[in-house]
Order: sequence, then structure tokens, then C-alpha cells
Amino acid sequence: MASKLKARIVKKKPGKWTNKHENFSIQISGLYDIWNPSVSANRQLEAYNATTKSLQNLIGTVSKKGERIRALGSAWSISRAAATDGRLINTKPLNRLFRVSDPSISDSYTGDSKNLYFVQCGVSIGELNRYLRLQGKSLKTSGASNGQTIAGALSTGTHGSAIDTGSVQDFVKGLHLITGPNRHVWLERASDPVTTPGFADRLEAEVIRDDNTFNAALVSFGSFGIIHGVLIETEDIYLLEASRIKLPFNDDLKQVIHTLDFSRIPLPEPENRPYHFEVVINPHAADDQAFSTVMYKRQYQENNAERRRASGGFQPGDDFLGVIGTLLDIAPSAIPTAVNQLLASQYREYSGRTGTLGDIFSATGIRGKATGAAMGVPLEKTLQALDAILKVHNRSKNFPGVIALRYVKKSDALLAFTRYPPTCIIDLDAVDNQTARNFFRGVWREFEMQNIPYTLHWGKANELTSENLQNMYADDLDIWLNIRRSLLDEENRFTFSSPFTDQCGLSE
Ligand SMILES: Cc1cc2nc3c(=O)[nH]c(=O)nc-3n(C[C@H](O)[C@H](O)[C@H](O)COP(=O)(O)OP(=O)(O)OC[C@H]3O[C@@H](n4cnc5c(N)ncnc54)[C@H](O)[C@@H]3O)c2cc1C
Repeated sequence: MASKLKARIVKKKPGKWTNKHENFSIQISGLYDIWNPSVSANRQLEAYNATTKSLQNLIGTVSKKGERIRALGSAWSISRAAATDGRLINTKPLNRLFRVSDPSISDSYTGDSKNLYFVQCGVSIGELNRYLRLQGKSLKTSGASNGQTIAGALSTGTHGSAIDTGSVQDFVKGLHLITGPNRHVWLERASDPVTTPGFADRLEAEVIRDDNTFNAALVSFGSFGIIHGVLIETEDIYLLEASRIKLPFNDDLKQVIHTLDFSRIPLPEPENRPYHFEVVINPHAADDQAFSTVMYKRQYQENNAERRRASGGFQPGDDFLGVIGTLLDIAPSAIPTAVNQLLASQYREYSGRTGTLGDIFSATGIRGKATGAAMGVPLEKTLQALDAILKVHNRSKNFPGVIALRYVKKSDALLAFTRYPPTCIIDLDAVDNQTARNFFRGVWREFEMQNIPYTLHWGKANELTSENLQNMYADDLDIWLNIRRSLLDEENRFTFSSPFTDQCGLSE
């Protein structure tokens, strides 16, 4: 018998929509809040499936009006990836999660089935961290903060600096994707099967096991439809022991940042490769110093976990995006002093701070209007890219921000901007003003003039076009477009396009 359950949907009026960081506003024709039907524990699956149907009905209704629709996570993206001129669906209330039971796991799955969790799209990284901790499990990595939803984070390729681990999308093993009013699919890699056919049957979804399709949908920023559920692979809970040291920005450190050969600098454990490595460079510093944050993995012990965060100053996992906006409205001539003061007062050395991944990379209070651009470059090009950035900086010396280098393993996702093995991500976190935007543009032009290969974070400041995307992703871009065409018919391709995908040449 067909279920009578329906998701609760509340429509907000048309109006101006602004992203969380207030980088831009856009006129939209509506925003829907959606909640799962409220049911007893033994009817969770029925409720989830009812929400799938309600989402499909909503897509159908909007599409019939000739309008576009887009799933919204936490609206943390600085770019217009989450924006639309049509309607938004606020997925944040969709936050069920459970462990996948053994009968649903394929015999071909080579990992430990106890690490697999099914997570509804709106669950935040913070919620996941708290839930998994109680299960004795942990995410393999996350960004520096925890406010993103799982679907929003993976859709733009959110990363930290776990040098041998990868980004959020890289621990995803299955996707439940709603591609239109009449189709929803369960996607897995053919080369990495995880669930039995019975699992997709329970979601009432069509199964597609194909590596390219899965790798295309992973980083697709809402353009493949609505990701309703995500199968993630976790691991046993662990601790991270973090230290931050100030180092001269000399030849030894320069050698490290483009080789990751750590033997040249005095890290706390010279014999061990760290889990996390990050370098922050203040372009305004007079003393040619840099800060290196390094973290080692440790076995979990409850006593050693730092549950409460110390107050004030930058915490071990903090990024600059959260606080740099406090420098807003400072006169250009005062920028160097202001950035130096911010670092001197808040960015301190420490050693041996220990916590779980969730303790270390926890909530960032967003203060002021900040922006950030993140360029992915091949490891061996890091130094050249950094020199190019400093060259642009030296023209005016008024970049209202700092430079941070983070590193991650190459992703299999076709449009992951972490596409180099490994990728150095150069974050330019800054006050959101015209000077910063001009600076980003100057850096991208300089990279192009010097033929430095680079990509740009989908969720951060960018001016992507079909031309520069072709340079960045080459054949993978065409494969991605072809897979989108094969999964979504013309009408649904329009429905899940946006001004951002139009600008990128990704709507067709
Ligand atoms: C303070 C701050 C710190 C940050 N730190 C980092 C960091 O350390 N590392 C890093 O890589 N990035 C970082 N970012 C960028 C951020 O992680 C990404 O922009 C991320 O995508 C935001 O997730 P969200 O849930 O807010 O998604 P949104 O911004 O709401 O959406 C992002 C994209 O995902 C799509 N989407 C959302 N939900 C769904 C769904 N259910 N189905 C299909 N598509 C969906 C949207 O359409 C959109 O295209 C930071 C941003 C901020 C503001």
C-alpha cells in the first residue's frame, strides 16, 4: 500500500536572498523549508521515502512553471554556486542518519561494514562529528569549520589539510540523487561496490553502478539534481595532536612547501609524516616569518580529548575566513598594520593541543564580511605560485588578508578542484572589498601569464567561465557534461541550472 506520509514544506515569499557571508544578494522567486514527516522510529525509512516523493513533487511543480530550482545547504559558499534566480530548497532540516546494517552490505565491499553510515543531505559536519563520537567513529577529514551540510560540503569539494587523506567527497561511497520529478537513482562506483541491490530497493531508487557517473555527480554543486542521501565511510575515532610553530620563511621552508619533504624543518616529530600540515604566510610581516600548523594522529583516549575550546585567539583548527572580516572598513594604508596586529594578538604558537577531529575543526563564529579565494596547484608548482602571488602583492602591498597553504590527496571526482597528486591549496582569505577582489583577479591573470596550472574552489571567490574551465579540467569537463546529459533530460538540465552554471557554460 502506498504511504500517505508527506514532508512538511513551507514556502517563503519571493525576495532578496543573501549568502551567509553576505558577499552578494540575488532576487529569487521563492525558498522552501522542508522537514521529514514526523514518525516513530520504526517508520524512518517510510518517512525518508516520503520526503523523496515530496522533493520530486516540488521539482515537478517548479519545473512546470518554467523556473529553476536548487538545493541549498548552509549557504556558506562565497561563490554563487548555491544561488539561483528561481527557487531554493533549504535542506538543513533533513537530518536523519543511521548505520547501514550488515545485510545491506555487498560481499564485495572490502572495508569494515561498521564504518558505513547513511546520512541525509542536511546533516551538518558538526552534527556528524557529535553523532559519530558517540559511536566511537570519526570522519576521515573535514574543512576547518563544521557548519556546512554534508551534501553542500561534498558538492563543492570541501577540504582540510589532511595531506594523505583527501577531501569530504573522497569518503563518500554512495549517493541517492533525485534527478527530476520522475527519476531518482542510487549511485555507486562499479569498481567499489558497497551495498546490495536490496539497499537501493529500500530507497525505491534505480541503481547505477558506474565509476564515471559517480565521479561526475560527486562534485556537481547542485547541477545533477538534489542529493537526498549520502553513504559515507568513517573510521575508528582518533585524536589529533596539534602544534603551531613560527619558522623563518627561508630556503628550507620553501623546499618543504613544494615537496612535502619534512626533513628540512624542525617539526615536533621529525620521523613521522603528519596527518595535517599547513603554512600561513603574512604578506605584510616585516620579519619574513611563517606559521606552520602540524597535526599527528593519535589513538583515542577519552581523557586526552579536549572537549572545551580555550577562549580567545585562533584555535588549532581555525581558519581566517571566520575572523578576517573584522578588519572591514580599514583604510588601505592601515591594512598592513591591521593584519599584523590581528596575527600578533590572535595567532600564537602552541604545542601538544589534543582533540578529536570534531574538537579541533569545530564551529567558527563568522565575524564581519570576509571573502576567500582558493587555488589548487600541483605540489611542485607551489613555490612558483606563491612567488606569483607575492609579485602581485608587491605592486600595491594592500591585500587585506593572509595567505595559507594546505595540502590534500588528489580526488577521483571529475570536477574536484583538488585534481593534482597531491594538490596544494593556496587560500587567500581577506576582508571582502574591491581591493581583495582586484587582488584575486591579478593573481589569476599572473598564474595564466606564467602558465601555472591551477583550479579554483567552487564554493569560494571565482570568476569561472567555460573557457578557463576547459583549461582547468580538459577532457574531464566534457565527460562531466556528457554524463549530466545522459542522467538528466533537457527539461531537468534546465531546472537544475543557475546563473552560475550559465556563466560557467555548464547548463547545457
Ligand atoms: C567560515 C567558512 C569556512 C570555510 N572553510 C572551508 C575549508 O576549510 N575548506 C573548504 O574547502 N571550504 C571551506 N569553506 C567553503 C565551504 O566549505 C563550501 O562553500 C561548502 O560548499 C559550503 O557548504 P554548505 O552546506 O554551506 O553548502 P551551500 O553553500 O549551501 O551549497 C554549496 C553547493 O552545494 C549544493 N548543494 C547543497 N546541498 C545540496 C543537495 N542536497 N543536493 C545537491 N546539491 C546541494 C548547492 O546547490 C551549492 O551549489 C568555508 C566557508 C566558510 C563560510
